[in-house]
Amino acid sequence: SIRVRFAPSPTGMFHVGGARSALFNWALARQQSDGKFVLRIEDTDAARNKPEWTEGIIRALEWLGIHQDDPHFEGPYFQSAYADKHRETAETLFKEGRAYYCDCTRDQVVERRDNPHLGYDGFCRDRGLEPGPGRALRFRVPDGGPTVVDDQIRGRVEFEHSSIEDFVIARADGSPLFVLANVVDDVEMGINEVIRGEEHLSNTPKQQLLWEALGQTPPVWAHLPVIVNEKRQKLSKRRDKVALESYQEEGYLPEAMVNYLMLLGWAPGDDREIMPWAEMEPLFRISDVNSSSAFFDEKKLRAFNGEYIRALSVDDFVERCRPYLTPDRVPWPAENYDDEVFRAIAPLAQSRVAVLSEIVPNVDFLFLDEPVEDGKSWNKAMKPGVGAEMLTAALERFADANLAWEAEALKAALEETGAGLGLKLGKAQAPVRVAVTGRTVGLPLFESLELLGRERVQERLRAALA
Ligand code: GLU
Repeated sequence: SIRVRFAPSPTGMFHVGGARSALFNWALARQQSDGKFVLRIEDTDAARNKPEWTEGIIRALEWLGIHQDDPHFEGPYFQSAYADKHRETAETLFKEGRAYYCDCTRDQVVERRDNPHLGYDGFCRDRGLEPGPGRALRFRVPDGGPTVVDDQIRGRVEFEHSSIEDFVIARADGSPLFVLANVVDDVEMGINEVIRGEEHLSNTPKQQLLWEALGQTPPVWAHLPVIVNEKRQKLSKRRDKVALESYQEEGYLPEAMVNYLMLLGWAPGDDREIMPWAEMEPLFRISDVNSSSAFFDEKKLRAFNGEYIRALSVDDFVERCRPYLTPDRVPWPAENYDDEVFRAIAPLAQSRVAVLSEIVPNVDFLFLDEPVEDGKSWNKAMKPGVGAEMLTAALERFADANLAWEAEALKAALEETGAGLGLKLGKAQAPVRVAVTGRTVGLPLFESLELLGRERVQERLRAALA
């Protein structure tokens, strides 16, 4: 049965690329009744690790639906707990002649080579050095032939041994390097498929040699294509929005995020793109993953999210909006909030917001003492000869106690008032909208007026004229 793993290093915010790797692994583990997804936190780089990054990883996985109480989930394990095993393995490789100690300094290594692209020249291979201070342990790469990595996505990739230097597996202080610790743990945890980012492909021949040197059958490999931005540059945390958490905070739904991430390099076929996890999970095949780079299209993700939002029940939508309506996140005085009014406007807002945080600018006019002042919108809507005239006429019309204060009637009333001034409805409603909501675009105006109530609408029109 399949045993895959997700092995993040807690050295920063959880990256969308990591999330994709985790989901691909998760789908494969879940497809088999006894398949396992092992979470291993590679926390050996003490200088760059922080406990909050580890917590962030675990929280992010939960958010994506990779739940620790699922029978397919195993761990989390922490690489630091296996330090003794890493050292022991390094010693074994030395004793068996598969690795040797080297006391060359970096400068010496550089000095000796004529071609800057070449690595270590094997100077200490046959010097028979014992372990000691200042001595690193290097793996003895076999002399002839290639190592062939049979990658499920990239096919057969050959690495000539002559192009692989005798690489360091343990530093002079005895601490293991990534290539070694990663393999030792994978062996220990019985991993039989490794699915990870393409940036690790260059480590793979070395790691495969290590698996073989340890007398083990290497896992089946799959290296996922890089994720690029609209300029075809590899996503980077300095340049691009890559932290899963920032999407979560903005109000991306996990369902939409999961759906979108699954399409980075893979497609379920039939031209279908919007597809819930439950349907994708059984369809996912690693061999169908494309080897060319995957474009992370934020616009498309936004559109996906909007679709997922529109598919929610109104009650669900309301509940998901709640975290965005807490006093610290809204511009209105907390006591002005009225849940009934919010529930009444929610269905209108639901069809307009693409991310949940956009709920606030859509409904703030209902709860602010005064609408937001956006100078540009104001000037546009209040053009001389239209704005003030229209507001004055509307005020007069709205004062009529016989006018029923509900959307349909309000629309008819404004239509008529506008016609009196030679304005079509669109032109006629612009100054009213901006006076009442502060904006030129927003939720349907007449429902908004109805919810805001006659008095407050009149107040705002008067204030706008003053
Ligand atoms: N800790 C490594 C990383 O985050 C793991 C690579 C692997 O999956 O083997 O890049």
